[in-house]
Amino acid sequence: MKKNWLAGCVLGLCSVLLIACQSVPLTGRSRLMLIPSSQSMAASAQAYDKFLQTADVIDGGKEAEMVRRVGSRIQQAVETYMAANQLSQQLNGYDWQYTLVDDDKTANAFCMPGGKIVVYTGMLSITRDEEGLAAVLGHEVAHAIAQHSGERSSQKLLLSAATAALSATAAGTATRNASAADQAKAKLLAAGFGAAATYGVLLPYSRLHESEADRMGMYFMAMAGYNPEKAVALWSRFKTEAHQGKGAPPEFFSTHPSDDTRIAQNQATLTEVMPIYRAYHAEKAVEKP
Ligand SMILES: [Zn+2]
Repeated sequence: MKKNWLAGCVLGLCSVLLIACQSVPLTGRSRLMLIPSSQSMAASAQAYDKFLQTADVIDGGKEAEMVRRVGSRIQQAVETYMAANQLSQQLNGYDWQYTLVDDDKTANAFCMPGGKIVVYTGMLSITRDEEGLAAVLGHEVAHAIAQHSGERSSQKLLLSAATAALSATAAGTATRNASAADQAKAKLLAAGFGAAATYGVLLPYSRLHESEADRMGMYFMAMAGYNPEKAVALWSRFKTEAHQGKGAPPEFFSTHPSDDTRIAQNQATLTEVMPIYRAYHAEKAVEKP
């Protein structure tokens, strides 16, 4: 009887996981998605609006125009790619916005679920030009398209449920045996599982998300007509500047440490994306002889 109940639970969990498994556009990697994207997009739209109320938004001028231009070119490239691959429905609910915020001390840029982009003026001295900014925004938009934040929340949800189930089972055993040593063992087991899950699943996934966003970002750049070689140059510059830096690294560096592995991976991606970039410009040349 107990075995049947357990089998039912395992079967139920497997069907939930099967339904919740989706593929990341472009890379085709399977991802776990227990939280509907509409939910994270609604939360991000609210947070974005709240943020804009207090932020020092720059509406006019060359830099704000550049942020809007880069953002919308990458948006169009993503939309064209998704439409060509019958994936447009994954963009349902996206409401793209590109905002430049006046804050020279903050070297950061991000794209929230649903296409809510923010660039701080402090980031522009690091990205230097339009293609440098396209490399950063391509990467950030890729995080949003791949729904990395939703995937990480889903993993955390599943892991905390598994840890709770393990604690309950172990605690039940310990109580029945009424042994203090068993109870301590049960606690250690649950804690150990939590730590193993964090270091074994969540952290490697975060590195995997970074590599995936780099690769997808370079594709989006190329599709939008920006030279993806500039992305490799940017990440190389990050590495050099981070080594030379005194004190705390700028915000974007601290969440995006650049190392030889990252640079080598991006260098390898170049061979895939340069033909796309060249084709974009060859087509433009035909359009405007
Ligand atoms: Zn990233």
